[in-house]
Amino acid sequence: MEKSKRVKNAKFSAFIKKNLYLILMIVCVIAIATMVAVTYATRGRSTDSAVDANTTPNTDATTTTDPNDPTEQSEPTGPAEPAVEEIVFCLPAEGEVVGVFSNDTLVYNATLNQWSTHEAYDVAAEVGTPVKCVYDGTVKSVTASVLRGTEVVVTHTDGLTSVYSLLGSDVSVAVGDSVKKGDTIGKIAESGTFEKHKGPHLHFELYNSAGEKIDPVQYFESTDK
Ligand SMILES: [Zn+2]
Repeated sequence: MEKSKRVKNAKFSAFIKKNLYLILMIVCVIAIATMVAVTYATRGRSTDSAVDANTTPNTDATTTTDPNDPTEQSEPTGPAEPAVEEIVFCLPAEGEVVGVFSNDTLVYNATLNQWSTHEAYDVAAEVGTPVKCVYDGTVKSVTASVLRGTEVVVTHTDGLTSVYSLLGSDVSVAVGDSVKKGDTIGKIAESGTFEKHKGPHLHFELYNSAGEKIDPVQYFESTDK
């Protein structure tokens, strides 16, 4: 009996010895499987927390696009600047320039027989030559006087006011009319006793927002200067 027990033990230990590698492998597989299961479980949690972490930065990202909006809002101020259009006049009449702006030099006026400054721009042309509005604006007044003939006053942007004197009575605009640059507002005529010595011509004046007479030449297209 003892012998058979010993034989059995010897057989068992021989089996163990024979299949030691197999047993070790099984243990290893179980261990690996457990590790894999554990890492999966923690990974699942970590990816969940990663998603959470991602969603919070995402909300941060949407809030970081908000600060971008002010920069986008600053862009409209960019296009707003070109909206300040440079004011360029057309010539009020085609003809010979017979008087230029001078506020520091006295010019003799043969008609009035006196020396005075000439703060205007005079263009001589045949009677009936169209007189054009130099820039978009609104007709402020249409008047007639012995001295200045028929006179049209047009207000523009930037506080500018243009005055067209010595016109014929057949003006083509009325008070309150909107006029565009180049629109005919009247005709050159032999009207008014003021500057009669220059013959039929347009006496053109320009006022700034302060009500001061200024040289209109600065607003003419460079080729017209
Ligand atoms: Zn003049």
